[in-house]
Amino acid sequence: MSQTRPGGEIQSTWDPQHWKHCPGEDNPADLITRGLSLKVLAENSLWWNGPKWLASNCWATERQGNEESSEFVKRERKPKQVTMHACAGLAKEPIIDACRYDKWLTLIRVTAYVLRWVQVFKSGESSESRELSAEELKNAKLNWYRQVQREVYRIEYAQLEAGQPLPKTSTTLNLDPYFDKEDRLLRVGGRQQYSNLPEVTKHPIILPHGHPVVEKIIQCVHNELLHAGPENTLSVLQQNIWLTHGCHEVKRVLMKCLVCQRQHVGPSSQKMAPLPSERVLFSPPFTHVGIDFVNPLYVQGNPSPHKSYVCIFTCASSRMVHLELTSDPSTNAFFQAFNRMISRRGLCSTIWLDNAKTFKCADRQIRKLYKSQSSDSDQPWNDIDQGELQAKLASKGIKWKFIVERSP
Ligand SMILES: [Zn+2]
Repeated sequence: MSQTRPGGEIQSTWDPQHWKHCPGEDNPADLITRGLSLKVLAENSLWWNGPKWLASNCWATERQGNEESSEFVKRERKPKQVTMHACAGLAKEPIIDACRYDKWLTLIRVTAYVLRWVQVFKSGESSESRELSAEELKNAKLNWYRQVQREVYRIEYAQLEAGQPLPKTSTTLNLDPYFDKEDRLLRVGGRQQYSNLPEVTKHPIILPHGHPVVEKIIQCVHNELLHAGPENTLSVLQQNIWLTHGCHEVKRVLMKCLVCQRQHVGPSSQKMAPLPSERVLFSPPFTHVGIDFVNPLYVQGNPSPHKSYVCIFTCASSRMVHLELTSDPSTNAFFQAFNRMISRRGLCSTIWLDNAKTFKCADRQIRKLYKSQSSDSDQPWNDIDQGELQAKLASKGIKWKFIVERSP
């Protein structure tokens, strides 16, 4: 036996045609690899003497020939299990491509005409009227319902048509479906058998979500309801159709409705600039203040009502508001109000002022001309001396800034 010699040496010494196959039951090496007690091994003649045919030298003559076709190879070859699923070809190719038509009613009319001509060719009798009848349109609808069910619920349709129970993995199991032999459709069994609802409402036709034909049906009902919302559309649909994942599916289809998109679109908004540092940095209240006047208030007085003004101081970081009442819109009156504010809230470092337009008019003549022609003569900022105001604020170490012109 050459089992003790290295495999590489054996392969290099002998030609491949000298190699023959030794079956497993005649191979002594297999005894140890399969496990054997010492007692049995000691009495085993195969281990000590080798196979019988080795001594009789008949191995070479018996094993010649095509071993691939011998019974021995067939016995040694491990059996392979191949599982094949056989499905009956129930889904027929539709005669009409539904994707060619955008609207459900167009598709139905085309289908009805095709079915009419099929009937004419079969019977040889032409139709009396050129217009489609309600019966023909109904048959066209049922034809598409049937086509969709055969396409999506292939196994369920075949099982129930043959009177067999549904497989436990069926997604329609909770609907308790049954096969309507008259229309040849799958309908919901449900629990409303004893109600006085119409038969088509008690047992609606099962239609799947995500099918292009079903999308056309949803869009058609939505249009007939003058673009009603998803809840209303679904409730009308469910009068004769049970749509799986109905609420989600109707919303998905209605999101693609162009008419609704135009009606519900909101105004475009611009991207806002970053907030100024005074608004976002930590600081004591009223460090950065915005000032504005409200329109004059008429106060009852003697002998006649007179105007009063309210100056609003707004903290830019905390949004606190401080109100001061002034008797007139002069510079002195404003500074009296401002001094009262800083005495109560503390000295501010930055003031944001409204009405930057006035300050941009460096030319006094132009500003006077603007003030004389302006119809908005009640604005109190127009009566305040801006130069004096700026000088006094700067002497207190206060920066003053003006908001963007015409900003809201
Ligand atoms: Zn719409």
